[in-house]
Amino acid sequence: MDFHCHLDLYPNARAVAEEAARRNEFTWLVTTSPRAYEATSRVLGHVPRVLITPGLHPELVARRASELPELLKQIEQTAAVGEIGIDGSYRFKASLPVQRQVFEAAVSRSRELGGKVLSIHSRGAVKDVLTILLKHPGYGTAVLHWFTGTVAEMEAAYKMGCWFSVGPAAFSSEAGSAMAARLPRERVVPESDGPFAEENGAPIQPWSMERTAQLFAPHWECTAHEALAALHANGQRLLRTIDWPS
Ligand SMILES: [Zn+2]
Repeated sequence: MDFHCHLDLYPNARAVAEEAARRNEFTWLVTTSPRAYEATSRVLGHVPRVLITPGLHPELVARRASELPELLKQIEQTAAVGEIGIDGSYRFKASLPVQRQVFEAAVSRSRELGGKVLSIHSRGAVKDVLTILLKHPGYGTAVLHWFTGTVAEMEAAYKMGCWFSVGPAAFSSEAGSAMAARLPRERVVPESDGPFAEENGAPIQPWSMERTAQLFAPHWECTAHEALAALHANGQRLLRTIDWPS
């Protein structure tokens, strides 16, 4: 299983998608813009067990905010949305006000449509993200991808019912490992965030769930096998909230 992957952006996307379909019972392909969603649906829409969802990546909002109306339309047709969110890091500071607007519009649309499962980017902006989610109860289920906030923010997110998708790259720094270890175990699902996320200089593949389990095991004081079973059970639980024709 992989709950956050940019499958369409691997150099050999079609082959990687087909291999993901062979190896994974579920792969969530989050697109980064409405146009990418359209193109990717055309090229990879036939691949089984791969869920393709519309999004507008916060790092692209500065250039692509004009695609927001398309995003809001696309959300009508899908059970899940992503990648959306807010990036508060220095490089994207200038677009923060627009990022907030775009994210809030997507969350609000999800609420109007009865609730969706959202894959959310929150780097340097967890507070902003949670504030907007709190304003729109009924938006559905939030999955915070590669969470790098504080412990207090993580606890607030947990109380709001958020899930966390975590991949091998989250363990590459000491701070990342420490945060991963503290995440509520029953709300963690695997992700790859490939091909952007890397381990040992190579892009992480969508079938990295076993590797993620290995990395969690010492923190959870269990075997890699048990960690894998826990991630899998969580994934199945979250999948039940996503209504899609697999
Ligand atoms: Zn991503």
